[in-house]
Amino acid sequence: MKRLYLQTYGCQMNQYDSDRIARLMEQQGYAATDSPENADLIILNTCSVRDKAEQKVYSALGRWRELKERNPALLIGVGGCVAQQEGETLFRRAPFLDLVFGTQNIHKLPAMVEDASMARERQIELAFHREPSYMEDAGAEPIVHGAKAYVTIMQGCNKVCSFCIVPYVRGRELSRPSAAIIQEVESLAARGVKEVMLLGQNVNSYGKTAAGELSFAELLARIDRVEGIERVRFTTSHPEDLSPALVAAYEKLEKLCEHLHLPVQSGSDHVLKRMRRGYTRREYLHRIEHLRERRPDVALSTDIIVGFPGESEAEFADTLEILREVEYDDIYAFGYSPRPHTAASKLFNDDIAEEVKRARLEKVLRLQAEISRRKNFARIGIVEEVLVDGIAKLGRGQMTGRTRANRIVNFPGSAELSGKLVNVRISGAGANSLTGELIGAQ
Ligand code: SF4
Repeated sequence: MKRLYLQTYGCQMNQYDSDRIARLMEQQGYAATDSPENADLIILNTCSVRDKAEQKVYSALGRWRELKERNPALLIGVGGCVAQQEGETLFRRAPFLDLVFGTQNIHKLPAMVEDASMARERQIELAFHREPSYMEDAGAEPIVHGAKAYVTIMQGCNKVCSFCIVPYVRGRELSRPSAAIIQEVESLAARGVKEVMLLGQNVNSYGKTAAGELSFAELLARIDRVEGIERVRFTTSHPEDLSPALVAAYEKLEKLCEHLHLPVQSGSDHVLKRMRRGYTRREYLHRIEHLRERRPDVALSTDIIVGFPGESEAEFADTLEILREVEYDDIYAFGYSPRPHTAASKLFNDDIAEEVKRARLEKVLRLQAEISRRKNFARIGIVEEVLVDGIAKLGRGQMTGRTRANRIVNFPGSAELSGKLVNVRISGAGANSLTGELIGAQ
């Protein structure tokens, strides 16, 4: 049996793609190895959303060069966003590389590996597809982790956020046919899956570019009716596409979890304009208010970029202010870094010093930790429904799972609770998680 060493950088979408790669190659007789030294095939699945992505790729390739010199039959490939972005440059800078495949070419990987090993020729596939049917190709079945599964519902993005590389490396929006998605969710339920996470770069614009297709809210309503599925989540979404129908879904749909990740990026109108986000601070807050009127217990998380070009102290203070005002449950914050091809990298100087970005990032994270701790502390005494993921990282007889609002809960319990819905009385809280006592399984 041949062995595959697969390394992944980046987001949930990329993790999903890596699971697909692993399964496709398993069908070709490759077993996973956690050591590149023992591999017959090394694949690096990359993400270029954050800074230093390219350097990370080239330094990983540098480490594997020696392995290739020792074993010329070893095949090395790079996929994902950096592959899409760099293309042939990867071959020029790493001449020993065998495979480069873009974000929409994972299904071609088995044939590429076969051709590279038979013909001893480099293979490159970077095409973007115009038809969503390519997502139905072999290896596209959903990935199941215990009682949870990821289901891709769309790919690509038609927005023009000035800092974002996604539209360049993931292509234009393509929505999978709703019939295929619903069928997939039904078959997951039949396999015992209780929670589905709907994935896409901008899931709440699902269906907009596909004539006659369901809207995202309609798709959620259909999935809500699938027997056996207990929880539905989605990520990620754009505030502009938080439609009244989607807000109403939070009130009406029993299985739609009371959690929304709604990236705000900045609290300053000037920065939002330079970011080309398409909404003002007021419009964003109005949407949140509307959502909270319909679903008061909804938990919110967001993405923040600090140190965007030209961000003044006052503009940064607006970001701190929006964190206080919304009181998110969780945030993902980053210092700005210019990404290739993007409008921001062409139009603006990256003029905020690194130490200023670092200091602003620390401030944002410190403030959020206070807010999260306070909000988590308020859960003490409440009985939460937890879907158990498995044994907690700390071990010591602790299990871990998530509430419907996506809060992490650790509690003493046994491994056979994995995949079950249980009730846990919350007895302790930190900034990132809750602890509690098991009351019973549902
Ligand atoms: S909506 Fe999200 S994925 Fe699309 S361009 Fe903006 S930040 Fe990037």
